[in-house]
Amino acid sequence: MTLTAHAPSYYAHSAHAAPARPPLAGAHEADVCIVGAGYTGLSTGIALAEAGLRVVVLEAAQVGWGASGRNGGQIVHSYSRDIDVIERQHGRAAAEPLAKMMFEGAAVIRERVAKYGIACDLKDGGVYAAIKPNKVPGLVHHKTLWERWGHPGLQLLDTPGGVRSIVGSERYSAVLVDPTGGHFHPLNLALGEAAALESLGGRIHEGSTAVRIARGDPATVHTAQGSVRARFVVVACNAYIGQLEPVLAAKTMPCGTQVVATEPLGDRAADLLPGDHCVEDNNFLLDYFRLSADQRLIYGGGVTYGARDPARVEALVRPNMLKTFPQLAGVKIEFGWTGNFLLTLSRLPQVGRLADNIYYSQGCSGHGVTYTHLIGRVLGEAIRGQAERFDAFARLPHLPFPGGRLLRVPFTALGAVWYELRDRLGV
Ligand SMILES: Cc1cc2nc3c(=O)[nH]c(=O)nc-3n(C[C@H](O)[C@H](O)[C@H](O)COP(=O)(O)OP(=O)(O)OC[C@H]3O[C@@H](n4cnc5c(N)ncnc54)[C@H](O)[C@@H]3O)c2cc1C
Repeated sequence: MTLTAHAPSYYAHSAHAAPARPPLAGAHEADVCIVGAGYTGLSTGIALAEAGLRVVVLEAAQVGWGASGRNGGQIVHSYSRDIDVIERQHGRAAAEPLAKMMFEGAAVIRERVAKYGIACDLKDGGVYAAIKPNKVPGLVHHKTLWERWGHPGLQLLDTPGGVRSIVGSERYSAVLVDPTGGHFHPLNLALGEAAALESLGGRIHEGSTAVRIARGDPATVHTAQGSVRARFVVVACNAYIGQLEPVLAAKTMPCGTQVVATEPLGDRAADLLPGDHCVEDNNFLLDYFRLSADQRLIYGGGVTYGARDPARVEALVRPNMLKTFPQLAGVKIEFGWTGNFLLTLSRLPQVGRLADNIYYSQGCSGHGVTYTHLIGRVLGEAIRGQAERFDAFARLPHLPFPGGRLLRVPFTALGAVWYELRDRLGV
C-alpha cells in the first residue's frame, strides 16, 4: 500500500527514517483510540501511555503529515489570543487558569525531547519583532503582560544596534527576546514522539482514515479495513478532519499558510540571525523565520483563506522574504510548501466532548506548537478522571463564523483584508 506522501517540504527531505506502521486491519481493543497523529494526538497518547493505558493511534496519512510536520518550527508561548483579551472577553475566572498554563506547552516539549532523546535540532531563543515604530508598544505590552504572569527573562531591544545584534535586517524598530522561546525540526519532533509512544507500548497505524465513530461505552472507531473498540476516543484531526465529525468542522475554518526554505547559506546565515533565534513579527498576518540546522533560511507567511493550495508558494513568500533580507536577492529557494492550520472566530482553541467518552481539541488558530503539547497532557488528565484543567478550556464558548458554511470564507477573507490594512497603517 502507498501511503499519502508528506508535503514537498524541507522537513520531509531531511526527516529521520521511520518504521513501517501498517494500516489497521481487523477488530482491535484499546483503552484509548486517538484519531490523528499530529502533536495533539501524539502528545495525548504519550501522556496516557506513560500512565499505563493501552493506546492506539489511527492516522489517515503518515505521522506528522498535517500541520505538525510542516510548520515553522517555532516555540511560541500562550494562545493565539492574548491572555488580557481573554480576560476582557470572558472574565478573570476564565482567564486565570488558562494563564497559569500558558508557558507549560514549551516545557512539555523540552521534557519529552530530553526524556526520549528526540533528535529534532531543538534550539533555545525566540524573538518577537516590531515592523514599525507604532508596533513597538505592542511588544512592550506583551512583555508587561507575560511578566505579570510570572514569565521572567524577556529583553526588549529598541536601538538599531540592539536590533541588528539579533536580526540582520533594517526592517524592524524593536525586538523582544524570549530565551525560553526556540525552534526545532517539526517533522522530526513528531517522528520522535511517535517512537516515544511506541516505546511505551502504544500502537500507531498509518494509512488508516477513521470514517465513523460509533457512540457507546466502549465506543468503536471504524476505518475501511478495521475497527478499534475503546473506552475513550480522542479526535485530534484539526484542519484535516474532513467529514469525520461535521459538528467539529462547522465552527472552524481551515487556512493555508506558506513556507519556503532556501538553499544552505553557509557563512551568510549568521549575518541574518547572529544568535540563531527564531523570529516572528507582531502583525496580525505575520511573517516568521529561522535557520535550519544546515543553515537554510526557513521563511513563512501569508494566509490563504479557505485552504486553497497556492500554485506557487515561492511567488507568494519570496517578496516578503526579500523585504526582510534584501541581501538574499540571488539566493535559490529549494523548497516551498503549504500547510493548514485551523482558525476559530475567537482564535481560541475548541476543546470538549462529543459524548461522555469522546474528547476533542482543535482550532488553535496559528500558534499551536506549544498549545498542542499542553492540551495532550490536559486531555490525558481528563481521561484519567481529573478534568479541572480540561474544563477551563471546555468552558470557552465556540462561536460560529458569520455567514454560515457557505459564506464563512469570503467574510473571513474580508476580515483578513481589514487586519492587513490595520497592519499596514500600524493601528
Ligand atoms: C505552515 C504552518 C506553519 C506553522 N507554524 C507554526 C509555528 O511556527 N509555531 C506554532 O506554534 N504553530 C505553528 N503552526 C500551527 C501548528 O503547526 C498546529 O497548530 C499544530 O501542528 C496542530 O497539530 P494537530 O495535531 O492538532 O493537527 P495536525 O498536525 O494537522 O494533525 C492532524 C492529523 O489528523 C489526521 N487526520 C485527519 N482526519 C483523520 C481521520 N479521519 N482519520 C485519521 N487521521 C486523520 C491528519 O492526517 C493529520 O496528520 C503552523 C501551521 C502551519 C500549517
